Amino acid sequence: MPELPEVETIRRGLSDCIIKEKGGKVLTVKIYSGKSFIGEPSRIMGAEVIEIRRRGKALIFDLSNRVSVICHLRMTGQLVWVGKERFAGGHPSDNFIADLPNGQTRVIIKFQNGTLFFNDQRKFGFMKVLPTNRVEDDDFIARLAKEPWQMKPEEFYRKLQRHKNAPIKMVILDQTVVAGLGNIYADEALYYAKIKPKRKAGLVSESEAAKLLEGARVVMERSLEAGGSTIRNYVKSDGTKGDYLELFAEVFNREGQKCRRCGAEIVKVKLGGRGTHYCPECQKE
Ligand SMILES: [Zn+2]
Repeated sequence: MPELPEVETIRRGLSDCIIKEKGGKVLTVKIYSGKSFIGEPSRIMGAEVIEIRRRGKALIFDLSNRVSVICHLRMTGQLVWVGKERFAGGHPSDNFIADLPNGQTRVIIKFQNGTLFFNDQRKFGFMKVLPTNRVEDDDFIARLAKEPWQMKPEEFYRKLQRHKNAPIKMVILDQTVVAGLGNIYADEALYYAKIKPKRKAGLVSESEAAKLLEGARVVMERSLEAGGSTIRNYVKSDGTKGDYLELFAEVFNREGQKCRRCGAEIVKVKLGGRGTHYCPECQKE
């Protein structure tokens, strides 16, 4: 699932390709799955993208006619721009480099200077058209908590205390507690702070909470520097396929391998239905 750093990487990459005259005006919108596009497509035709913003894991395309498109990729969404250059980001798959559209393409937005493909294998993602001045009131956006960069450690600690008996990992995945942490970065941040994912949130001390918040920032920044799950990391310069997780992950997808801090074997368990990775030695119960 694309997480905050991946979505931010997509925001930056697409901004370079489609803002204003680079993309030009929207010519047509073709919808292959009604579930994937909410609102009236004609409202964006003839307009240019003037800014691409991000709130949590949602992208917001602001258009020149005061209409916006909120796009959430959820589990398997991807955005692929094909124009003078090609840019792709989101759930990594061969769609990054394949001929499009294909059976996973849900929406095609054709601009004067290129085409934006919204692919989504499982159709949990969506695009939604609404007036720009209504974006902040949208249910989805209004519910989001602050991101780790905006939140103070005291506030984070207080929020954890409100979910005393829940496993800490499930609490930090809750987007109303802190926005932007998904499964990968929750595991990585807990490793950074040396806290076992199943520990009750009420048993996380104030100083551990501060360390966890710092960890959330650090691991997401590392991923941002690495470029997230985009075409750049999917296909390496030698033509082989890469895994962007290799670039920063300490525990995620490293089960059976040695902890780089203490040498113990990283384990993987299920917690609240999510694959959860941790070091049984240096992360404390
Ligand atoms: Zn360890």
